Amino acid sequence: MSLPSRAPRPPARVVVVGAGLAGLRTAAELRGRGFGGELTVVGAETRPPYDRPPLSKELFTRTEPLWLAGEGYGELPELADVLLTGHRAVALEADDDGARVTVHGPSGAWELAADVVVVATGADPVRVPGWDGVATLHDPDDAARLRELLGPNTHLAVVGAGWIGAELATVAAEQGARVTVLEGGPVPLGHVLGPEVGRLLLPWYAAHGVELRCGAQVARAGAVGVELSDGGRVTADVVVAAVGVRPSTAWLAGAVPLTPRGAVPVDLGGRVRGGPASVRAVGDSADRYSPRDGVVPGAHWDGALNHPAALVADLLGTEDGDLPDPAPYVFSTQLGHELTVVGQAPPGAELVLRGKPGNGPWTALYVTRDPEGAPRLRAGFTVDRPRDVGPLRRALSAPHHPVVDVAAARDPRTQLRRALTPA
Ligand SMILES: Cc1cc2nc3c(=O)[nH]c(=O)nc-3n(C[C@H](O)[C@H](O)[C@H](O)COP(=O)(O)OP(=O)(O)OC[C@H]3O[C@@H](n4cnc5c(N)ncnc54)[C@H](O)[C@@H]3O)c2cc1C
Repeated sequence: MSLPSRAPRPPARVVVVGAGLAGLRTAAELRGRGFGGELTVVGAETRPPYDRPPLSKELFTRTEPLWLAGEGYGELPELADVLLTGHRAVALEADDDGARVTVHGPSGAWELAADVVVVATGADPVRVPGWDGVATLHDPDDAARLRELLGPNTHLAVVGAGWIGAELATVAAEQGARVTVLEGGPVPLGHVLGPEVGRLLLPWYAAHGVELRCGAQVARAGAVGVELSDGGRVTADVVVAAVGVRPSTAWLAGAVPLTPRGAVPVDLGGRVRGGPASVRAVGDSADRYSPRDGVVPGAHWDGALNHPAALVADLLGTEDGDLPDPAPYVFSTQLGHELTVVGQAPPGAELVLRGKPGNGPWTALYVTRDPEGAPRLRAGFTVDRPRDVGPLRRALSAPHHPVVDVAAARDPRTQLRRALTPA
């Protein structure tokens, strides 16, 4: 496939908007694959790119950001011809014929014309209107504030038992704080793992000294407390909302189609589905369509790390075969456990457990039947079982979901790869 119309390929001028993991990786992939044109990177933050996962997991043990350059992911000042930090894009204009695209700064302060703009503006934490004084955890400033406020003899209320809520609850409890987690659903992470597996996570909270209240509908929240819709109240020294993220894409409104949750819908090459050929998107700001898994919402580190390679390969035309379509992959450290989710578990999938929850490491496999009735592996959730992660990532990154020998897979002594047949 080629870019329609007059857009040059390879492009002569590329602007990357967003200088986080996905923006940095896009710049590094462009140079790594031989892009010799003009590269501009624009980022709203004034700090160099840093890694977000340690902000929650190492809240109290790492007081300086983990810089991505130091981790070998690339140095923006070396990669970009022009690097504009502390610059927030507020609008984008793309010509109908896809030949030219312009990014605008506030009040006409600056504008950048390019052949291709890569949107890598990530996502912002959801802030509920009216929840004044409620904190979030998204950047090093948030982390510094929470470090100051939390400690022994403080009470933290976290709204939301998702990935970040659970990780924050974990480290705050380990720091000696009293922690209450208020989750609206019946179990933690039920929307990702399903109700049966979500239920298996319930005992982890009490075992880690964290009070978890499920089915807790928050009516109002403020700096020092939460009011529940059943009339209950939780008073606390600090209240944190960990109720999800929204793609940072308001600046694209009207210029680029957006999904109902505000993400840019893209294909494996980061091309905007139904949008201008001169705009691509990657990382948390994009929902990637995978021919194998369907829509993969951006919100996780591995997508921001790896999707830029496919985007750039497609943009520069350097990939001979099909573009890579790595299995969705999420990791988390929470409540004394190392977790990963590989693939996407469809609702109603058959559950196959390897190992015994509550008694050492275990893995949940999610299986559906194909039209011939063959069991296909769709996703895996590993708990303290790193040896299953590699086989899951390899098998679930193949073009089709592998056939699984359910009886063999159920036995945790069987190597997982031996229970999977590529299809
Ligand atoms: C506390 C925390 C813990 C996490 N832990 C995990 C984990 O354990 N596992 C996991 O898989 N994922 C985790 N994540 C998610 C992971 O960090 C993200 O998926 C990843 O950072 C996405 O990278 P990105 O480059 O797409 O977005 P970001 O890292 O958000 O970077 C986007 C950048 O674009 C900038 N920007 C936004 N709008 C504009 C604009 N209009 N103009 C210019 N610049 C703009 C932003 O300021 C930001 O610097 C965690 C996230 C947080 C906050």
